Amino acid sequence: MTTIGTPLSPRATKVMLLGSGELGREVLIALQRLGVETIAVDRYENAPGHQVAHHARTIAMSDPDQLRALIEAERPDLVVPEIEAIATPVLEALEAEGVTTVIPTARATRLTMDREGIRRLAAETLGVPTSPYRFCDSLAELQATIDDEIGYPCVVKPVMSSSGKGQSKINGPDEVAAAWEYAMAGGRVSHTRIIVEGFVDFDYEITLLTVRARGADGEIATQFCEPIGHRQVGGDYVESWQPHPMPATALERAQEIAGAVTGNLGGQGIFGVELFVKGDQVWFSEVSPRPHDTGMVTMVTQWQNEFELHARAILGLPVDTTLRAPGASAVIYGGVDATGVVFDGVDAALQVPHTDIRLFGKPESFVKRRMGVALAFDDDVQTARRNAAEAASRVKPRAV
Ligand code: AMP
Repeated sequence: MTTIGTPLSPRATKVMLLGSGELGREVLIALQRLGVETIAVDRYENAPGHQVAHHARTIAMSDPDQLRALIEAERPDLVVPEIEAIATPVLEALEAEGVTTVIPTARATRLTMDREGIRRLAAETLGVPTSPYRFCDSLAELQATIDDEIGYPCVVKPVMSSSGKGQSKINGPDEVAAAWEYAMAGGRVSHTRIIVEGFVDFDYEITLLTVRARGADGEIATQFCEPIGHRQVGGDYVESWQPHPMPATALERAQEIAGAVTGNLGGQGIFGVELFVKGDQVWFSEVSPRPHDTGMVTMVTQWQNEFELHARAILGLPVDTTLRAPGASAVIYGGVDATGVVFDGVDAALQVPHTDIRLFGKPESFVKRRMGVALAFDDDVQTARRNAAEAASRVKPRAV
């Protein structure tokens, strides 16, 4: 049985978000709607989630001492990681000590924080199809691995990085050194380890949002949202849409893979499973044990969006992944490097039929920083994509 207390009272149900960007902010709002007391944590002040939570805390979440001190002081019922750069050994220790519950589990957080843990689990332990891959620690080793095993074209990524940072495609021998240098500069921590993957010539890639939530019988059941298609530029998503049409066999394989990987990671909550598809063939790429950026489209396409699904699942409540209408999302970039920007054209954007927008309230804009998202639903995905892109293009961030 799930019992929820009253916020700001001694019996409050307290949830701490580690990472309070635009995705964390939506999770916080979803939790508050269910009467949860929320603590938003981020590394900088006035992060999007800080602006909506009951409590805002600013610490370096990669610092084990700071992280432990904060969790011990706040004593949340649940700790919900929203980013990868977290001192995960502290989470494992606190979970083992019974101090708090980590979503989905501390082990899942550790395994997915770098590309090596999750890739080895998926490919070597679970036998799920992935691109061919090797891990390398030097340029010489990378060159030898490409020559002997992986071949061209291939993709190099720092093991500790996300959203395309430090990632590049190598088409031939003269590009290897530059790819290595780029990976060294783009990793999250000073780390020399990279993954080199054979290039998968896929038809399309999808995010399969997979939810592990308690059913009526009290058992954890796995449910899938409709596949989300997306377009990446430089490893960053620029637009997404749902549903993405798939042949029945490919969808079945995708669900099998997502079920196997999330089943092993365990716990409760939503997972963003990234898959490559070619015909009926499906390859596992990555998984995030939390809402996924391409899943922002669900704010306009599903009865319960991915943030509400996550909030419900982690609280032990039932979920409903039903699609409401086809739709699309398009990212609104900062376009300028400035603090305290203003957004012109919001009215014009919302004149596009069946659209909505979210502005994330980030204190500082960068040219390529995601500052908002435009959402559109329609009878078909094509119209929604066009309208979301049009609405996004009408919002013009401006330095003042
Ligand atoms: P990642 O950061 O691993 O999610 O990669 C970002 C994007 O790069 C993916 O969404 C794909 O579009 C592309 N990508 C990554 N790995 C491969 C691969 N092995 N083959 C082809 N494209 C890839």
